[in-house]
Amino acid sequence: MAIDIHWILSVAILTTPFFFEKWAKRSPRTIQSINHVCAVLTVFYLGLILVVTDSLTQTNAAKGAFSLPPILASSALLSLIWIYQVRSKLIGIARGIKLRQGEKLLTQARMILGIVLIYSLYYLISTWVGKHFSIWLGIPLAMIALIYVTPIILQVMWKTTPIQNPETINLIQDCFARADVDLKRFYFIHLQKLKFHNAMVCGPRFGFGPFRRSLFITPSLFDHLSLDETKAVLLHEAAHFKLHHLPKRMGAAGLGILLALLMIVIIGTVTFTLFKSPMSALVELALFLLIQAPFVGTIARRHEFEADLMAVQLGASGPALVSALQKITALSGIPQSERPSFFTRVIFGVIHPTLDERAMVLAQGYIASKSLAQPLKQYALTFTLILATQLSVSYLNLQTKYPHPAIRNIASTPSQR
Ligand SMILES: [Zn+2]
Repeated sequence: MAIDIHWILSVAILTTPFFFEKWAKRSPRTIQSINHVCAVLTVFYLGLILVVTDSLTQTNAAKGAFSLPPILASSALLSLIWIYQVRSKLIGIARGIKLRQGEKLLTQARMILGIVLIYSLYYLISTWVGKHFSIWLGIPLAMIALIYVTPIILQVMWKTTPIQNPETINLIQDCFARADVDLKRFYFIHLQKLKFHNAMVCGPRFGFGPFRRSLFITPSLFDHLSLDETKAVLLHEAAHFKLHHLPKRMGAAGLGILLALLMIVIIGTVTFTLFKSPMSALVELALFLLIQAPFVGTIARRHEFEADLMAVQLGASGPALVSALQKITALSGIPQSERPSFFTRVIFGVIHPTLDERAMVLAQGYIASKSLAQPLKQYALTFTLILATQLSVSYLNLQTKYPHPAIRNIASTPSQR
């Protein structure tokens, strides 16, 4: 082979996303259609890479060794980063975000610096602890360390200024005190140019110094929302704390990953025992996403509804919360009740409930199971389809590998190996 397939892959990965950006600029698209195009692109690239991985596994397995060429691994990573970058750019165009070239570069540079910091910290802690103690301790410890440094990372990634107005500080502290949270650090986060208007609290419960729990809020909330609406938004954030949503969500994510891995191991063992054929990497990834996404999604959605209801219990006005959410959505340039499709949810993990759904739960005053529903039928159908494809491919492979029925029987007996 004169031209290596990995080179073709890498060039395709680096060039094609640009055409999509041009296409979106020429004729404006909706966020929904951008998500669909990028999801198809993701599936296409990942599929291509995993099919190559599969064929390499088979050829190398014959030689008794398997190694993933570094260029393939980096192509996979690059393709994902490119698609996500292009997706966020396209969505930015659709939302009407306009940045000057210098601002674009600065935003990009800060983002990259933040990601490099997060990755280095995670890598250093998990490998150091993993090497000296255990990897099972390394990963959770690295994740806890990341919670501690989030307030600092946010300040590296975005422009922030400490809030100094005593009235504003009083308002914030009063709201958080109602949820028994003693908040000491407050920052304005300047994201209005990116049409981001929101409030967020990060950092650990038992933080100290610069690692203390901090509130980041866009100044636009104070400019555009009424006092009652601002209070409602702050109480929603405080409610997340009162209900311990952050540790719960992390636990759910960990459990979801374990569940998905367990399922892959079980299915992989079954296909190998029956057909002496390893499970395709493509199928493994698809199953992983399909199992993990609804699991984490359902819990994250439930948490948003719970925080809304708790905010009302803590003294927020329900109608003020709804009108605040309406204003924030309008300022962000996001269509109000566009529900992300099944495809978008699985590929990009879009899980937040829509404004209409939240307003409905607030009006009812409780979470009816209907508002929680994920498209479970679609998940189950896709799961079955993927599994059936894998099993038939393995079966056909077995037919070609062991054409004689007697040998096939021997091959399919697990004790023969
Ligand atoms: Zn929330």
